[in-house]
Amino acid sequence: MTSRLTGMACLRCAEPWPVAEYEAGCPRCAAEGHASNLRLTYSPGGRGASLPYPEALSLGEGGTPLVELPELASELKLGKLSAKLEWCNPTGSHKDRMSAQLIARALDHGAARVVAASSGNGGLSVAAYAARAGLSAEIATTEALPRVYRRAITAYGATLVGFADSMARWKHLAKRVGEGAFAATNYKVPAIGTNPFGIEGYKTIAAELAAGTMPDLVVMPCSRGDLLSGIRLGFEEIGAGVPMLVAAEPFARLERVLAGADYREPFAGDTAQASIAGSTVTWQAVEALRASAGRAIPVDDRAARAAQRRLAACGLHAELSAASALAALAILAAGGGFAGRHAVIVLTGSGSRDPGDTDPAARPHDEAAPEGALAQPATTGVSPQRTDPSVQQRENG
Ligand SMILES: [Zn+2]
Repeated sequence: MTSRLTGMACLRCAEPWPVAEYEAGCPRCAAEGHASNLRLTYSPGGRGASLPYPEALSLGEGGTPLVELPELASELKLGKLSAKLEWCNPTGSHKDRMSAQLIARALDHGAARVVAASSGNGGLSVAAYAARAGLSAEIATTEALPRVYRRAITAYGATLVGFADSMARWKHLAKRVGEGAFAATNYKVPAIGTNPFGIEGYKTIAAELAAGTMPDLVVMPCSRGDLLSGIRLGFEEIGAGVPMLVAAEPFARLERVLAGADYREPFAGDTAQASIAGSTVTWQAVEALRASAGRAIPVDDRAARAAQRRLAACGLHAELSAASALAALAILAAGGGFAGRHAVIVLTGSGSRDPGDTDPAARPHDEAAPEGALAQPATTGVSPQRTDPSVQQRENG
């Protein structure tokens, strides 16, 4: 662990806390009935984004390509549009940046076993880094987990445990944590987010973006906001300003909270965007949007599919959830006010592991959008349409 780590602090009440595992988030906020994650604090003097475990057991994560999309930029009347290809990480998603720090923390903590609740990318990443560290891993998932993930997770030697629904997985994780396992994903309701040591790993995305021409806005898929919060913390620490952060979500959750709803409520909705499904909102996500004057943009499955096809036409086959970032940007750009601006979309995962979402035969009820057409401003109502027989209500990880 870096000697520059001085402690932790609450994202909601700013109370400082000593370095430890806080399963219920900030103890003070928890006592008041509010779930809030913590952040790490460092002594001054670092360069770039500080990490708790700078010598983490790397598998080569980070340093992903930033690809310019000039045609799309012109279509959306942006000055510049770039895609951050997070699927170039070792296990194919942004989660590897988090796993490297999380598993280093688990080792430091003396844990022998790591547990995670996942719908795919997170479980795969945790399984790989746990294997690298010589720790046993147990991934709690739902029966909807695609076979391609199942095969990869077990190839790393992790144990897969299936549950009928996501909440049952979280109960299982709570039991395992009680037995001494280290939690690599959220398992609390109301949700808090992942262990803050892991979220620190996402600060490196901000550092990589800030090393080039600073973007005006960064758009990413979002469920419980680990990525969103990490990117925000990274930009803040670098000190060159925080771009407007935009959360693409499959149905209105964060958008409703920004409009006044209580973040602890359940926000139900169905979606085929499995990696960002789920009914929960976290304080860390709300706070990251507020700190960056950001926005939450609901993107229904039809708009996400149109964006997925548009990206594929540029040579980028994104996971449906990841493609939602482009759909959200298109909705935002259609509203005006972003002409000439520099936007980055974070493409968190590849479409190659998303078979049910890209095979036309698997979505007989999907109304195909006109070729090349990006989403028109989507319905931002609270009742998303069921568009796919494979639609699942899942909490990602
Ligand atoms: Zn607090």
